[in-house]
Amino acid sequence: MKEGIHPNYVKASVRCACGETFETGSVKESMTVDICSKCHPFYTGKQKLVDTGGRVDKFKKRMGQK
Ligand SMILES: [Zn+2]
Repeated sequence: MKEGIHPNYVKASVRCACGETFETGSVKESMTVDICSKCHPFYTGKQKLVDTGGRVDKFKKRMGQK
Protein backbone atom coordinates (compact mmCIF):
# COMPACT_ATOMS: atom_id res chain seq x y z
CA MET A 1 0.00 0.00 0.00
CA LYS A 2 1.15 3.48 -0.79
CA GLU A 3 1.43 5.89 2.06
CA GLY A 4 0.67 9.57 2.11
CA ILE A 5 -1.98 9.53 -0.58
CA HIS A 6 -4.78 10.27 1.85
CA PRO A 7 -5.14 13.63 3.56
CA ASN A 8 -5.24 13.67 7.32
CA TYR A 9 -8.78 12.89 8.39
CA VAL A 10 -9.43 14.67 11.63
CA LYS A 11 -12.35 15.51 13.81
CA ALA A 12 -13.52 18.93 12.79
CA SER A 13 -15.56 21.35 14.83
CA VAL A 14 -18.11 23.00 12.60
CA ARG A 15 -19.69 26.28 13.55
CA CYS A 16 -22.95 27.30 11.95
CA ALA A 17 -24.18 30.82 11.35
CA CYS A 18 -27.02 30.15 13.80
CA GLY A 19 -24.53 29.52 16.57
CA GLU A 20 -24.81 25.76 16.59
CA THR A 21 -21.59 23.81 16.79
CA PHE A 22 -21.11 20.19 16.06
CA GLU A 23 -18.36 17.80 15.18
CA THR A 24 -17.77 15.97 11.99
CA GLY A 25 -14.97 14.32 10.15
CA SER A 26 -13.06 16.49 7.78
CA VAL A 27 -9.64 17.20 6.44
CA LYS A 28 -9.91 20.61 8.07
CA GLU A 29 -9.84 21.07 11.80
CA SER A 30 -12.50 23.71 11.86
CA MET A 31 -14.94 25.28 9.47
CA THR A 32 -18.05 27.38 9.36
CA VAL A 33 -21.30 26.74 7.59
CA ASP A 34 -24.27 28.94 6.80
CA ILE A 35 -26.86 26.38 7.65
CA CYS A 36 -26.92 23.17 9.65
CA SER A 37 -29.31 20.40 10.55
CA LYS A 38 -30.58 22.50 13.48
CA CYS A 39 -31.63 25.53 11.49
CA HIS A 40 -32.21 24.10 8.03
CA PRO A 41 -35.88 24.46 7.05
CA PHE A 42 -35.91 20.87 5.89
CA TYR A 43 -35.15 19.69 9.42
CA THR A 44 -36.89 22.34 11.48
CA GLY A 45 -40.04 22.48 9.39
CA LYS A 46 -39.98 26.23 9.71
CA GLN A 47 -39.33 28.65 6.96
CA LYS A 48 -36.30 30.78 7.47
CA LEU A 49 -37.00 34.15 6.01
CA VAL A 50 -34.09 36.26 5.03
CA ASP A 51 -35.48 39.74 5.12
CA THR A 52 -33.44 42.00 2.90
CA GLY A 53 -34.49 45.60 3.00
CA GLY A 54 -37.91 44.95 4.53
CA ARG A 55 -39.19 43.21 1.46
CA VAL A 56 -40.98 40.65 3.57
CA ASP A 57 -42.75 43.35 5.57
CA LYS A 58 -43.87 45.05 2.40
CA PHE A 59 -45.14 41.77 1.09
CA LYS A 60 -47.05 41.08 4.29
CA LYS A 61 -48.60 44.56 4.23
CA ARG A 62 -49.71 44.09 0.65
CA MET A 63 -51.27 40.77 1.50
CA GLY A 64 -52.99 42.12 4.59
CA GLN A 65 -54.37 45.37 3.21
CA LYS A 66 -57.02 44.49 0.71
ZN1 LIG B 1 -27.48 26.23 12.03
